[in-house]
Amino acid sequence: RQPVAVIGAGVAGLAAAARLAVAGHPVTVFEVSGSFGGKMHQFDLPGGYRFDAGPSLFTLPQLVDDVFRLAHREPSDYFRYERLDPITNYFFADGTRLAAWADSQRFAAEVEQKLGTPAAAVTQFLGRSGKAYDATAGTFLHKSLHKAGTYFSPETLKAVAALPSLGLTGTMHARHEKAFANDPRLVQLFDRYATYNGSDPYQAPATLSLIPHLEHGIGAFYPEGGIYAIAQSLHRLAEEFGVKFRFNEPVREILTAGNLVTGVRTDQDIYDFGLVVSNMDVVPTYRQLLPQQPAPERTLGQPRSSSALIFYWGVAREFAELDLHNIFFSADYKREFDAIFQEKTVADDVTVYVNITSKKTPTDAPAGHENWFVMVNVPHDEGQDWATLAAKTRRVVLAKLSQALGVDLELLIKAEKVWTPPGIAADTSSFGGALYGSSSNNALAAFLRHPNFSGRLPGLYFCGGSVHPGGGIPLCLLSAKIVAELIDN
Ligand code: FAD
Repeated sequence: RQPVAVIGAGVAGLAAAARLAVAGHPVTVFEVSGSFGGKMHQFDLPGGYRFDAGPSLFTLPQLVDDVFRLAHREPSDYFRYERLDPITNYFFADGTRLAAWADSQRFAAEVEQKLGTPAAAVTQFLGRSGKAYDATAGTFLHKSLHKAGTYFSPETLKAVAALPSLGLTGTMHARHEKAFANDPRLVQLFDRYATYNGSDPYQAPATLSLIPHLEHGIGAFYPEGGIYAIAQSLHRLAEEFGVKFRFNEPVREILTAGNLVTGVRTDQDIYDFGLVVSNMDVVPTYRQLLPQQPAPERTLGQPRSSSALIFYWGVAREFAELDLHNIFFSADYKREFDAIFQEKTVADDVTVYVNITSKKTPTDAPAGHENWFVMVNVPHDEGQDWATLAAKTRRVVLAKLSQALGVDLELLIKAEKVWTPPGIAADTSSFGGALYGSSSNNALAAFLRHPNFSGRLPGLYFCGGSVHPGGGIPLCLLSAKIVAELIDN
């Protein structure tokens, strides 16, 4: 088995490194920062608060387990998780509150009681989403879409042909409007799933309306100790299989000779490798590490996904009405997404996501306190005045949450940190600070993502949220699986 260099220790880089090492490759991971995790890192704030910096919603945990099973290890020796119930607490702008229970029947009954839409309409919608997911996921997510074998396989043709009969044409929002015509709050609830890959429900294709099935059909989960435990467990497995981690050592160039990859250059040394996997965002991979190579401009020019403004707050009180995941909706969702995707700014009224891991991991905050991860979806960085936008949004968020919870929230904040799109870009080398690479705002987006391999340079592979099949923890893990399989098959 040939030695492999992996550039970046994000979740996909860790999973790719572990998979390749298990398969017998000597693997070296180069990481610019001092530790692993990338967007999935953790940090502490003074006063005893721990935070997961980035991802907080976790589905398809079996994709993590798969890596341990591949290594013939018992997943629960490395990584444990619980299924969430309720999944999310929703607070609508008109004051209505709703709990999204894990069980679809119970969730549907809650919708009927709180919003008035018959329970049967909800269970039917979720049931259809499940069927459509089963019919399409294998094709669109689990394999490289860009190999002729996948493109023209009978399964792909069958999956594409099935889309109209599964109701998966048109936009996501249109599909939800059709299903729940008289219930704008329920439409808003389901439209929100477009943000799971940084897209706009008013443009994104109806195929994205399969995402709720992940939570309500398969489940939403919380890893013991927080999301960072995913990165920790994969790092531990990788080390056990001999992966070498070179932290604080950014790759400056991917070396080539003719059309062959020959290694990587860092400030410390030149290393020979015939196989290189980039877990770095694909745009800077081409612009910074392969400046002499022609770049796939059409692919790199695809519109970016949204980014986020995150306020990490140590809060000196406990709130019984809140749980791990809480959403406070804006009054005008269309306005909010137009601001993000058309005007590239932040609306005056925003939907606020509050994630509190101390609800599940009490040591994440001192007794009687909570650690709040408060996130607003915003456009990717195009040079906006983020200091002004962050200050304005902070005021809006404080007013909204204070009103909904009947407190003066600002007085309770004992520690604070803010992460802006330029900060996300600088800390993780993600182009424009986009959370999920390119957006999925058109029907062809899945096909226009960068493949998991280079067509020009055999030996060069790509994993992570900016390439196929997309951003978010499960898809990043699938990209690592696809890359490991492409290398060895
Ligand atoms: P990244 O995390 O992007 O890591 C890439 C790594 O490469 C970094 O460690 C970087 O330092 C390193 N690197 C870059 N350049 C170089 C170089 N030249 N040399 C060496 N190393 C380099 N997903 C979900 O599933 N659920 C969520 O709830 C969710 N919420 C999110 C909220 C936020 C605020 C953010 C930021 C992301 C969120 N995501 C969520 C998305 C998810 O975090 C990402 O899709 C995923 O973690 C990206 O992993 P990755 O493997 O692509 O690598």
